[in-house]
Amino acid sequence: MKNIPYFSRLIYLAAIFIPTNIVAQISTQQKPPSSNPNIIFILADDIGHGDLSCYGAKSVRTPAVDSLAKRGILFTHAYSCASTCTPSRYGLLTGHYPWRLKNTGIARGDAPMIIKPGQSTVASFLKYSGYTTGVVGKWQLGLGEGGFNKQAWNDSITPGPKQAGFDYSFIMAASGDRVPTVFIENQRIVGLSKNDPIQLDYPNPFKDEPTGKANPELLKLVPDESHDQAILNGISRIGYQKGGRSALWVDENIADTITTKAVRFIEKNKNHPFFLYFCTNDIHVPRVPHPRFIGQTTMGARGDAIVEFDWSVSQIMGVLKRLGLENNTLIIISSDNGPVVEEGYKDQSHEKLGKHTPGGPLTGGKYSAFEAGTRVPFLVSWPGKVNPGSSNAIICQIDLMATLSALINRSLPAGSAPDSYNELNVWLGNSTRNRDFIVEQSIGTLSVIERFYKYIEPSPGPLREDYSKIELGNDPDPQLYNLKEDTGEQRNLARQYPARVKVLAEKLKDIKTGVFVRPGFNEPKVKIEYRLSKLKHNE
Ligand code: CA
Repeated sequence: MKNIPYFSRLIYLAAIFIPTNIVAQISTQQKPPSSNPNIIFILADDIGHGDLSCYGAKSVRTPAVDSLAKRGILFTHAYSCASTCTPSRYGLLTGHYPWRLKNTGIARGDAPMIIKPGQSTVASFLKYSGYTTGVVGKWQLGLGEGGFNKQAWNDSITPGPKQAGFDYSFIMAASGDRVPTVFIENQRIVGLSKNDPIQLDYPNPFKDEPTGKANPELLKLVPDESHDQAILNGISRIGYQKGGRSALWVDENIADTITTKAVRFIEKNKNHPFFLYFCTNDIHVPRVPHPRFIGQTTMGARGDAIVEFDWSVSQIMGVLKRLGLENNTLIIISSDNGPVVEEGYKDQSHEKLGKHTPGGPLTGGKYSAFEAGTRVPFLVSWPGKVNPGSSNAIICQIDLMATLSALINRSLPAGSAPDSYNELNVWLGNSTRNRDFIVEQSIGTLSVIERFYKYIEPSPGPLREDYSKIELGNDPDPQLYNLKEDTGEQRNLARQYPARVKVLAEKLKDIKTGVFVRPGFNEPKVKIEYRLSKLKHNE
């Protein structure tokens, strides 16, 4: 941890956000030493702290994930950067807190790219360290530039993952419930016919195209009023879409399709160090798992989608075993944010939940400032290199870049990943040292955790999320919890310990203004400031 001198703080505060041009800084591709492992980050969507059997779930079995946990290290106090998809993924890939940047709220499918071309990412860093890099699955970090719906959907869509450092990409632009409902491979829509170009429009419906609102008889899932727009594959979405019929995905086949692409990427790059960022569609809504998973649990679509996620993990493990890559591959499994039971569609997840607790003992869920918002499953497997077991060390996904930098013994580019610390010893199970502090971002506020005390900044936001009724953790007064004695954040100690509240509030203020940045981060290329925007569903 570094306390930045006053003069440098002024420079940080004065600096204008300029994406760090690491492409220019590291122009020569260098082969890594052969001891560097392949790296696979499997990022689930909306899987909660209590959703996997290795984390105590009883109503669903996840044998593939469990076996990785058994031979690796399972973390009980691991955090994503934010309690929603887009900012969480931005922080994971860049090591830059999303709340330092504008427009990192939940991205629409036609949003411009948030990561600017040339900005350092874990992919660009590894690429220019000699890795072949690939992203498969959900992206939701925006595509193209120049504003909403400015993408060349029927041509090459750029900038995109390639400009963020990925040699190969096979992605969904946003989430399954948002248009466009097509796969995009290396920045071109897969299977598009020139005779039937695709068009998007988020605010306005296309004339004569069915919508969930006007044509409920065409639907196989009943939507809420924010998901009742274009109907594609019998499911209404957020946003409107027309044409591109030959390119439309079939929701029931998404897991099969993207898992196959991930497996092929591994096969193709088996003789060379690779980095695969595999982002599953499971278990985000709409949850329509393949028919072979229907009924695998008693929890309906949400439980069956967890089984489908586990199947995807099993396929990755299978190809690594088949190719003899198991011992030389570091696998991390985590989730982008906490759980939501029913959202957007009536899929009976509430009715069929039974005794299952998606967030385990934690309060809140997706969107929330309470722990279930960002405390997520996280396990690391690397046979022979990870010290197996479980760890209650406090860790965060924001540290991926600096930790991998230490793993491959190569410095990060100047001005990159200001908020990312090297936690390699902890991630490999050789230390249980807690991260010095954790910042959690909800849709309404920020929290900071230090030595098991958690401070939630006052926020005027709503108490509960509109549809899911998840407790958001907003309060106009300060909140202080002792997470060691009060896992469920039921006893606000702020009035009892005003001095501790003051210390943590100051700490958060200092983090916002750039006092605490990565040791070695010494270039004022990234603006260090606080810009938490008020996020909404359709932002
Ligand atoms: Ca998510």
